[in-house]
Amino acid sequence: MKELYSGKAKTIYEYDKDKVLIEFRDDISAGNGAKKDVKEGKGALNAKISAKMFELLEKEGVKTHFIEYIEPNKILAKKVEIIPIEVIVRNIAAGSLCKRYPFKEGEELKEVIVQFDYKNDEYGDPMINEDIAVNLNLATREELKKMREIALKVNDILKKFFDEKGIILVDFKIEIGRDENGELLVADEISPDTMRLWDKETRERLDKDVFRRDLGDVIAKYKIVAERIFGGN
Ligand code: 5GP
Repeated sequence: MKELYSGKAKTIYEYDKDKVLIEFRDDISAGNGAKKDVKEGKGALNAKISAKMFELLEKEGVKTHFIEYIEPNKILAKKVEIIPIEVIVRNIAAGSLCKRYPFKEGEELKEVIVQFDYKNDEYGDPMINEDIAVNLNLATREELKKMREIALKVNDILKKFFDEKGIILVDFKIEIGRDENGELLVADEISPDTMRLWDKETRERLDKDVFRRDLGDVIAKYKIVAERIFGGN
């Protein structure tokens, strides 16, 4: 299969003219590649968790690129043109929000924050607004409006799902792509690499912050998330 793209943690292969095979590797990185490691089993955990998140979104009426989970570490997906905007949704203050603004980590936000970051390593993924996105030809105003709506709906679905598993969905990042008809589909991955997940009782970190901030065994935490989602399966 022809390799289309290899990123920091995933490799994308062309499956056929309108499908791609996404391989989740065991590579883990933070700080735009400044910190790197390989964690055995991470690719499989993230592929399995992502597949479950996409299935859940589809079931709740959100269109995604997901077609099929291929054990242990791949997903078959519709080919899309990824819009180079990271759509970030925040329920609780954490991460860059607390670095840039006077929010306290763990503070419940009065209103959900939807934030657009320009996906561009050279510029360090800067936060942008609608006017900048339109001027950079990243998306139309209509698309940006829909992206916000999709992000809020994804938040409602995932927040409720994790709450029932004893986990707080602090924040997350999604990527959105256009299919051949220009329809917007949630794409990329939705995993503990792209969501902040805290235990509801203890506030233990169960996501990539464990790696970013050297808080312990990141794979052990991802396994806790998988265990809560899948139980014995
Ligand atoms: P923050 O802006 O606080 O660093 O990130 C907010 C949320 O979006 C976190 O859940 C974080 O994991 C996710 N996120 C933001 N940018 C990236 C990115 O470039 N890669 C990954 N994997 N997640 C990101």
